[in-house]
Amino acid sequence: MINVTKTYLPDVEKYKSYVEKIFSSGWLTNNGQMVQELERRLSEFLGVKNLLLVSNGTLALQVAYKVLDLKGDVLTTPFSFVATTSSLVWEGLNPVFVDIDPDTFNMDPEKITDKITKSTSAIVPVHVFGNICDVEKIEEIARRNKLKVIYDAAHAFNVSLNGQSAANYGDISTFSFHSTKVFHTIEGGAIVVKDDDLFKRAKLMINFGIPGPDRVTELGINCKMNEFQAAMGLCVLEDMEMILTHRKKIYNKYCHAFNNNAHIKVQKLNAKASQNYSYFPVVFDSEDVLLNVRGALNKEGIFPRRYFYPSLEEMPFVQQGQAVPVSASISKRILCLPIYESLEESIQDRVIEIVKAKIME
Ligand SMILES: *Cc1c(COP(=O)(O)O)cnc(C)c1O
Repeated sequence: MINVTKTYLPDVEKYKSYVEKIFSSGWLTNNGQMVQELERRLSEFLGVKNLLLVSNGTLALQVAYKVLDLKGDVLTTPFSFVATTSSLVWEGLNPVFVDIDPDTFNMDPEKITDKITKSTSAIVPVHVFGNICDVEKIEEIARRNKLKVIYDAAHAFNVSLNGQSAANYGDISTFSFHSTKVFHTIEGGAIVVKDDDLFKRAKLMINFGIPGPDRVTELGINCKMNEFQAAMGLCVLEDMEMILTHRKKIYNKYCHAFNNNAHIKVQKLNAKASQNYSYFPVVFDSEDVLLNVRGALNKEGIFPRRYFYPSLEEMPFVQQGQAVPVSASISKRILCLPIYESLEESIQDRVIEIVKAKIME
């Protein structure tokens, strides 16, 4: 069975050697050696300061909203994984959707200002499929209206703009290190905080607000990363260059196959940004074509995914009746094709062949 992605597993002997270190220290969680080491290495690899590892990308978002003390309405994109929106609702915030750009699939900055009201406290855009947003425009609007910006950078590991890590934009950026992501720690995530004091608060918050024995100074939660997760991260990080090289080759082959096809739209990439080749989305002329293509691929044991469908304004837990026609249309017609470091060339060839044949039917 070929899926849209396949979790990267490092050399098991290497992982065992880390596990042995954990066993001999007897320290399994609570800011252990492995977590500290991974925080150091990731900060260096990504070129960021103030990086905090957490147990997953959803809690990373929730802690970000909490530490920034968001209230009321938050502008976000309807075209994302459900966690971007559900985390807002979970924290008692009201997601207000800003429609997306039909070519980049990111929040359309031209449509933000119209949605700002007295109740708006922040903007939560997503660098969709690792394509970095128009951060300059977004942050200019945020400054003018005194809004916080939290980037859900779950897809943007190792992506940079003008040589700056994606995570250096906004008041806070969050990552997901779930097994399905380009870089993973089994389950996991990170928070990158611009302000040093807020960073210290976030650090307290992820461990019940406990600064040391016999004291609680802050309302907190538990979303610490454990040592086994961090050990996986250390192993995967060592192989990142190889992973990205393989993915790039596969990505470029899809580009070559589909770039000038009148019946397939590929994502328009931010020309000033680097890529991490995490997804390969294609948009068809209609949902019927998509279902036909998917059916034909499924018959051969190939399972692409409808990222992202349905569009999030349709979720039963958000304010109903928010019109975002571009997202609604794209989400019905978009399919992410298999891409991962060990995808065989012959299988990719077959995927391309089937897609090209089915769109002509
Ligand atoms: C994966 C993902 C998340 C959630 O991360 P988890 O680590 O699975 O909790 C949030 N936002 C986006 C855009 C994602 O793709």
